[in-house]
Amino acid sequence: MRCPFCDADQDKVIDSRASDGGRVIRRRRECLKCSRRFTTYERIEETVRLMVIKKDGSRVPYDRSKLLRGIQQACYKRPVTADQLTQAVEQIEDDIYRAFDREAESAEIGRIVSAHLQRLDQVAYVRFASVYKDFRDAEDFLDEVRQVIATSKLQGPGQGKLFK
Ligand SMILES: [Zn+2]
Repeated sequence: MRCPFCDADQDKVIDSRASDGGRVIRRRRECLKCSRRFTTYERIEETVRLMVIKKDGSRVPYDRSKLLRGIQQACYKRPVTADQLTQAVEQIEDDIYRAFDREAESAEIGRIVSAHLQRLDQVAYVRFASVYKDFRDAEDFLDEVRQVIATSKLQGPGQGKLFK
């Protein structure tokens, strides 16, 4: 694997572990030239691709990068690390593949994503939900925000700060 820092082509694997229920192998590598560390992920090629059923009934192949982009946008300027993002995508995919065989409605995927975001970051959750739930009016949206605030108050101080 070519080192992303110095471009050298020699490294050693210093740690290797399975995640996502054994579907992904994560390898921590160290460059033999500059000694810097980086991570690679190995996963099974998706030969049987999940199809996503859109609102209008049309079907598109499931796209991991689209999912990641959506989550990145929701987490923009939030205290969420790149590792947490990757982990969230893996857990979301795990849930999707566990719940659906060949096809999944986009709304169902949205439901799974928002459940994960709700645990990860409350602001990211509200941002995502405002798009996915397609709130009919401002009142619907405020209801959701109020629920989030109420829940976060129950979880204790520090987490209730929805907007800075
Ligand atoms: Zn290097």
